Amino acid sequence: MAGGTERSMKALKEVWRRAENSLCADCGKPDPDWASSTLGVFICLSCSGIHRNIPSISKVKSLKMDHWDDAQVQFLAKHGNAVTKATYEAHIPIYYYQPTYNDCQVLREQWIRAKYERKEFTEPGKQLPYSDGVKEGILWKRGRDNGQFLPRKFLLSEREGCLKYFTKQDAKEPKINVKIDVINATFQPVKIGNPNGLQITYLKDNKTRNIFVYHDSGKEVVDWFNAIRSVQFHYLKVAFPIASDNEIKNRLTRNFLKEGYMEKTGPKQREAFKKRWFTLDHRRLMYFKDPLDAFAKGEVFVGSRENGYSVQKGLPLGTQGNFSWHYGLTIVTPDREYLFTCETETDQLDWIAAFASVINQAMTPQEYASKCLDAVSFLS
Ligand SMILES: [Zn+2]
Repeated sequence: MAGGTERSMKALKEVWRRAENSLCADCGKPDPDWASSTLGVFICLSCSGIHRNIPSISKVKSLKMDHWDDAQVQFLAKHGNAVTKATYEAHIPIYYYQPTYNDCQVLREQWIRAKYERKEFTEPGKQLPYSDGVKEGILWKRGRDNGQFLPRKFLLSEREGCLKYFTKQDAKEPKINVKIDVINATFQPVKIGNPNGLQITYLKDNKTRNIFVYHDSGKEVVDWFNAIRSVQFHYLKVAFPIASDNEIKNRLTRNFLKEGYMEKTGPKQREAFKKRWFTLDHRRLMYFKDPLDAFAKGEVFVGSRENGYSVQKGLPLGTQGNFSWHYGLTIVTPDREYLFTCETETDQLDWIAAFASVINQAMTPQEYASKCLDAVSFLS
């Protein structure tokens, strides 16, 4: 190995070891071992793959396997994650969703493109496609019963505080008109079977309704997602004037805590256990026959420990029903016990952890007022 190479290797390691470069600049994953020689950021393998798709902006190299010359190392030393973020993340709107390494590809890719390719956050007060308080356009929506995706006109309006869609292009009356504060939106590419698949969930007559949409353009679907968050943010800001921006940010769209199949029995606990698809959306546990069903077959409210809720490993002694899965769990509520079985122990422990995370959280006064009084509990 030539002396010059050794010297630059040593210098590279020093920059790489700096605390500011210990997490991926784009998704926060620990121990990045790739870097962009043109942007000067340290990134993980997965984000480096996205950077590779925008070669005019970013050239990526492995920190372990590729050769770095002196000039490139000096560039990294001068930039690095802190300096680069100060430029490209200087003016991110508070409602804008910043993905982590657990998020799906479309969210991570559009975040990287928004930052470096479109430079959406480099200057203050920039007009962004999701900051207007109104958005209109076509999304492909899954038919409620036939499962066929058809183009539908959607309209999001901050002034009216709602999201609507229309069945026919020229229809005057919307098919749905949902208040923005009862909407949740979460990317579900695997479940929907499309890399840009977005699930929009809302409450109607205190029941959950799911709609599934996508757009061929990843940018467009992520713009919709952030437009919903923007409208929600401004709506909640008016509704809860004393709440801090961060408190409000935490109430925007949220990922489901856990989803998957479990078996359940009925209230007598002697009925045969049936396999169902479960979704835990914060304090709402819902079940469906099929993951893409429009309506939940049942739901139960999961309160906090102080209100008499708990989760236990296993089924009560002497449980009789027929079950084919053997990893049981029991949710105790003030009214009754709910019995479930999981296929694997990992699943069982994951579900218990997910339930415990909401049960161990004290309920906010708003949750108590809005959810507990009309607590959903029709999980038969
Ligand atoms: Zn990353």
